[in-house]
Amino acid sequence: MANIVAIVGRPNVGKSTLFNRLVEQRQAIMDNQPGVTRDRHYGYADWTDKYFTVIDTGGYVVGSDDVFEESIREQVQIAIDEASVVLFMVDAMSGLTDLDKDFANVLRRSKKPVFVVANKSETVMRQNSVGEFYALGLGDPYPISSLTGTGTGDLLDEVVKHFPTPGVEDPNAGIPRIAILGRPNVGKSSFLNVLIGEERSIVTDIAGTTRDSIDTRYKAFGKDFILTDTAGIRRKAKVKDNIEFYSVMRSLKALEESDVVLVMLDATRGLEAQDMNIIGQAVRAKKGVVLMVNKWDAIEKDSKTADQWKKEIVQRMAPIDYLPIVFASVLEKQRIFQVMEKVMEVYENKSKKIPTSKLNDAMQPEINAYPPPATKGKMIRIKYMIQLPTPSPTFVFFCNLPQYIKEPYSRYLENKLREHFGFDGVPITLFFRQK
Ligand code: GDP
Ligand code: GDP
Repeated sequence: MANIVAIVGRPNVGKSTLFNRLVEQRQAIMDNQPGVTRDRHYGYADWTDKYFTVIDTGGYVVGSDDVFEESIREQVQIAIDEASVVLFMVDAMSGLTDLDKDFANVLRRSKKPVFVVANKSETVMRQNSVGEFYALGLGDPYPISSLTGTGTGDLLDEVVKHFPTPGVEDPNAGIPRIAILGRPNVGKSSFLNVLIGEERSIVTDIAGTTRDSIDTRYKAFGKDFILTDTAGIRRKAKVKDNIEFYSVMRSLKALEESDVVLVMLDATRGLEAQDMNIIGQAVRAKKGVVLMVNKWDAIEKDSKTADQWKKEIVQRMAPIDYLPIVFASVLEKQRIFQVMEKVMEVYENKSKKIPTSKLNDAMQPEINAYPPPATKGKMIRIKYMIQLPTPSPTFVFFCNLPQYIKEPYSRYLENKLREHFGFDGVPITLFFRQK
């Protein structure tokens, strides 16, 4: 279980300033990871080798000045439900307010450790005045300045003492993020219900506050995963208004945030332009892709039908011929497990790193057997190659004249890489560099 620190408090006390300070250094790293969005109010932080997740609860609560009561209730609820430690922020510049007292009344009833954080205490005068916050009945106030960082070290020294575990750097590292996409009526909601309807285990979820909530982890069919678009579950009934526009936007966002895209196709309709479009987008975004042909129960078929389907898909997607296809029925719960297994497999493929020596041992003989064709009377020599430590498989081939390596030869190398190392379902990127 992850360590979670929630920051609560009325508007403008400096919650997001503190949040940014805490997650700042690590943010730069995390933002380069796939599936990390910028518009969020949680992030990862560390202090003295203890790792934790920070939630700026204020960021989750939308409301105008006259819904304070509601906003307090929501924020505090989030904090109490999710956090290991609550930072209750007040403003040393403006002093104690009635709203602070309202927050305190609710917080005093929770069983979680609560720290009163008197922010904006960058001057000695303000530091000396924080005594008034004892009146909140929540223990010693900690004078800090989120702006300058004054006092935050002393606060964190105390906070980390309350963590049940040292925590992990990124609690969701190694857990695949999945987007389930497909055109309307293909069976997405039905599939989601089968997946998470029964065996649902949420690690962290803030229901009802925002759609872009903190990562929601599920476990179903023995697999851990994160769904990058949970809206389909919650808002199934909402149709009509701008449905087309929103559904396109939503799938784009879900796709962007995921590692593996599960594209659902409808067996009763065949591969359509819209399907090709989704698959094309996923491949361009370098996501892992699994094709699930749903409603397999609903069509007439013989022993050849599946192969015909495969052939047609490969033909139409050419040159993309490496996407695994599972024929399934959500209705009859057929091959749902296989779908999830494929998703996991593709995720592993996407994360795979081939050591340089193994890579060269396998590929040099292939290059010698079929070297790049000479161009303008010049020999093209590929000297060696490496895999880059990128989120999706990327290889650099070092050669004397990289500009003369053409598409067909690049495809030859890609095919050989796939033959040797099996990157089923995963787009591969090749670069040619001068050496
Ligand atoms: P939130 O609404 O609680 O998230 O508050 P913000 O983080 O948006 O901060 C509200 C205002 O207070 C902003 O203008 C900040 O620059 C300012 N602020 C935040 N922390 C400090 C601090 O430690 N000292 C001072 N003087 N101002 C601060
Ligand atoms: P969504 O729009 O993609 O979320 O699709 P839904 O999950 O709402 O499903 C659309 C319709 O297809 C519903 O009537 C489902 O009962 C039906 N459906 C879903 N999966 C299957 C399946 O495997 N076989 C058959 N025959 N019908 C299915």
